[in-house]
Amino acid sequence: MEKAIYLKELNEKLNELYYQSNIAAWNLSTTGKDEYAVQAEHADLEMRLFLADKQRFDTVNSMLAGRDLEEFERRQLTLIHDMMVENQLDKETLQQLVSKQIALQGITTKFRGTIDGKEVNNKQIEEILRSSTEDDLRKKAWLASKQVGIVLEPGLMELIKLRNESAVKLGYANYYEMSIQLQEFDGEWLKQTLESYRDQTDTLFRRVKDSIDQAVGKRLGVDPSRLMPWHMSDMFFQEAPRTSDIDLSVYFEGKGDHIVEELATKTYDAIGLDIRDIIARSDLYERTGKDQHAFCLHLDNKGDVRVLANLRPNETEMETLLHEMGHACYDKYTDMSLPEVLRQPAHIFTTEAVAMFFGRMARDPKWYKQMVGIDDANLQRLEGDLPVAIRNQMLVATRWITHFALFERELYRTEKSDSRLWYQGVQSIQYLNAPEERFEKPDWAAKYHFAMAPVYYHNYLLGEMLASQLDHTLRTKADGKVLTPEGGRWFVDNVFTPGAKYSWNTMIEHATSEKLNPSYLVQQFNY
Ligand SMILES: [Zn+2]
Repeated sequence: MEKAIYLKELNEKLNELYYQSNIAAWNLSTTGKDEYAVQAEHADLEMRLFLADKQRFDTVNSMLAGRDLEEFERRQLTLIHDMMVENQLDKETLQQLVSKQIALQGITTKFRGTIDGKEVNNKQIEEILRSSTEDDLRKKAWLASKQVGIVLEPGLMELIKLRNESAVKLGYANYYEMSIQLQEFDGEWLKQTLESYRDQTDTLFRRVKDSIDQAVGKRLGVDPSRLMPWHMSDMFFQEAPRTSDIDLSVYFEGKGDHIVEELATKTYDAIGLDIRDIIARSDLYERTGKDQHAFCLHLDNKGDVRVLANLRPNETEMETLLHEMGHACYDKYTDMSLPEVLRQPAHIFTTEAVAMFFGRMARDPKWYKQMVGIDDANLQRLEGDLPVAIRNQMLVATRWITHFALFERELYRTEKSDSRLWYQGVQSIQYLNAPEERFEKPDWAAKYHFAMAPVYYHNYLLGEMLASQLDHTLRTKADGKVLTPEGGRWFVDNVFTPGAKYSWNTMIEHATSEKLNPSYLVQQFNY
């Protein structure tokens, strides 16, 4: 009985701290006001101190060691334990970890690369890589995007060493291994999953990359075999350059200011999920001072789910809203009678998978037929071009993620800034020609996530894998008709309602009759 009361109080207290932190984060993101930045920092610190409390950590550990725990008590304690581990460090180390990361964030925010001595921001660089046909300018823009790497690298390597030191103090081999384990993964399993995905997509990606090279070479007037990273349409070859001239904006532009919101409501209506209450609480349109990145927040963990977005009438924003509403429905339809800590998705990558599943619809010809109501001639055009576009994008993005994640693992294992290893991955995983003159330059460090979102990237790949597995399960169960009330019901009963009651692979097994199976992602786009 005492145990049950302790657990209940622990849940309530954590939820209160989580709520305070969310309110501050929401207010900060919607206004950009300094007072909320102060509140957000304060709320984060409160949460951290609560999780750092040694006596509380000991109590949780001794409860976990006890034999008389019920299944869901153990699950709650495990989740709370995993949140506590990282905070079991002395105050000085914790502060150093935070301040070093903030310092790197500061550099990233302020730094501007230069082209011929003139400062350029990332938007300008992206614009050049997307549309310029001037070879020289493209290369200069690409090089400008890498300049921040040289500035960031020393501090980043220091931070990586400090992260490793603190993980060793906590009894782990290094920071990467600690983070992976606290995310309920086995390090060896994850490495094999990444490598096996790379191997299974080699032939297909070779074909996709060849077709991209042909199209890009033709557009830029460069021999396809001589294409360099700056000929692709973004800084790290995360996106597939356009190979078709199909223009989806005609279905959004000039259709009213709220077209994206209306189509999202209609889509979720079709599967019997009501997002009107979520929309009513959300902040969906551009305003000065507002955060430019879209996200979903379950504010109080009691049903107050909101989305922040900056909608414009185009297909990119359509994908964004369908994606964020996927997260939102997961949160909204979780069983609210569960203890607070179980009232969340089974894993960050399972909610990512649901969001990706819905986001993908913005490039599905059938969605345009059913939701936008296009005629047969246009449907035929989309059916000719969109599957190729989405396949190219999926392959380019997932090969990039694989490269990033495998490199990051080595980074923490060796504590070496190995630029050659980075470019080996660029060649052998992304199939790009690598510029020899950059083999000694820390170009990898220019990617924001190494400093700001460490050991997170693999979740994007696992999310895509699960999105394809969910897609496969639904198609088999619903005769290929995914956008039906039965489809929505299936999500609610099998994925959303259980929340975090089960560990991620158990939830997946309950829902799809097998554990996470990466081959569905390979199969879905193997054409
Ligand atoms: Zn997401």
